[in-house]
Amino acid sequence: MIYSLTEDKHKIHARNARRGDKYYCPLCGNSVILRNGVIKSAHFAHGKHVQCTDDWNYDQSEFASEWQNLFDDSQREIVLENKDRIKHMAGVVSEKTVLEILNEDLTMKEFDERNRFFCDLGYNVVWLFNLVTQYEDEMISLDGAEGKGKWSKPYKMLKKLFSDDCPYKDSVSLFAQIFEEVVDSKVQPAIIKFQEADYSGEEMLFSYGRIINAEKFLDIYETDEPVRYTKTEPVKADNEEKKPVIQEGKSILTLWKMNYRVAIFRNLKTGKCVKIFDDQAETALKSLQRKWMGYIRSEGYRVFSKKVMEVYGADKPEWIVDWFVTHQDAKY
Ligand SMILES: [Zn+2]
Repeated sequence: MIYSLTEDKHKIHARNARRGDKYYCPLCGNSVILRNGVIKSAHFAHGKHVQCTDDWNYDQSEFASEWQNLFDDSQREIVLENKDRIKHMAGVVSEKTVLEILNEDLTMKEFDERNRFFCDLGYNVVWLFNLVTQYEDEMISLDGAEGKGKWSKPYKMLKKLFSDDCPYKDSVSLFAQIFEEVVDSKVQPAIIKFQEADYSGEEMLFSYGRIINAEKFLDIYETDEPVRYTKTEPVKADNEEKKPVIQEGKSILTLWKMNYRVAIFRNLKTGKCVKIFDDQAETALKSLQRKWMGYIRSEGYRVFSKKVMEVYGADKPEWIVDWFVTHQDAKY
């Protein structure tokens, strides 16, 4: 844990703690030791022979702490207590939402316990998983045009959440980071939300809409309606004329700049996104493997797959640039 209690019961961050002073576990009240490791940043731990009353596995990973560092001390590692006087700690707490950041999966039992505990106390629960490696290893594939994806080996712990009799499924939502270094650069699209998802078989099929960035995630995670697993009928437009009038769209051919390394274009009419790479062999190959819609050669002419041109209408004046990286940008 990153926080403990001082002798006069004040919450203190490990970075502000001093070796030799006494600190106490906010859950069980036993004394804890300040650790300043090489691998893990400063944190508190129970002594070897001290058993905490709480047996949850709190994520101490760099992934979790980088994310948690974006929040105020007063929102982090909050001890919650239920009517049976059982205490557990929530990663980040706001008025109505508990945000849990997870580097690796939990046992099904603990995942269930955590959701139950927070939901029984009236919170919505938002999970943010680290699926960067899974995405790199192609366990997760995304179809950018359709906004749909497949997770071939989903966390087993999620099974319960997807069962029909799960009592809290409407209060729990799932997000995943799939690209690295999002915390450093909050504007890069890197996070997907598992919207309508089906995990009744071996794999999980889901829709994710579009890839959002960390800023957007921080903006929406607690206000977004938690409706991920409720199957809903598609809403039929009752009046065709309500469709937004397109005023500023241009064709992708017009919008593409030769110094782009990669860019995402959004169709104003359909909301669909197309991600296009330049012609570095590697990215072009990736773009094809991952079923992105096309790529552009940098030697002065453009190559779009038939699909982009015909199905998605790259040449129609309906597009805007949603996001891009130029060759000068250090990383993406
Ligand atoms: Zn303890």
